[in-house]
Amino acid sequence: MTKRKNTRRIVVHCLLTDPSWHGPVSVDEVRRWHMDERGWADVGYHAIIRHSGAIEIGRDEGAVGAHAVGYNLDSLAVALEGGCDIHVEPRTDKLTYTETDRHFTSMQFRSLEAWIKGKLVVYPEITEICGHRDIPGVTKFCPSFDVRKWWLGVERRAAQMALPFRKPPLGIPIED
Ligand SMILES: [Zn+2]
Repeated sequence: MTKRKNTRRIVVHCLLTDPSWHGPVSVDEVRRWHMDERGWADVGYHAIIRHSGAIEIGRDEGAVGAHAVGYNLDSLAVALEGGCDIHVEPRTDKLTYTETDRHFTSMQFRSLEAWIKGKLVVYPEITEICGHRDIPGVTKFCPSFDVRKWWLGVERRAAQMALPFRKPPLGIPIED
């Protein structure tokens, strides 16, 4: 497995599993898809986030992943279980991540946020958080939601919480 020399971005994917698929999709299952069906050396993603919010470790984090052609060398990849609506279509018309018909859970988004925040501490050189479909030339809908918009919301909330406690104005003595 080739060691990754740079880590500049995090690319979010989905497993494109639909709501009618009740069987859980573990990292072992995805590893089997990628190794047996695609002939890769290991699962392509560095982590997978299950519907429960559980984070499963995939490919060795220091290794180059296999998930976005031309962008593997300097990126970390995480994939969410789910991503298809009831029509088994990765929908692009409604992009808000809260839609339950996209087969994601709020626990997944909490875990995704925590996972990304952790990686930003380990790799301060990361400058981009994006979805697979944000990569130039990609025509897939993966991961079926707008990662950049979602991450902006996360940052906005963090910035609000970090606001310093407002001291009351010192007050200019009033002369009379
Ligand atoms: Zn993808």
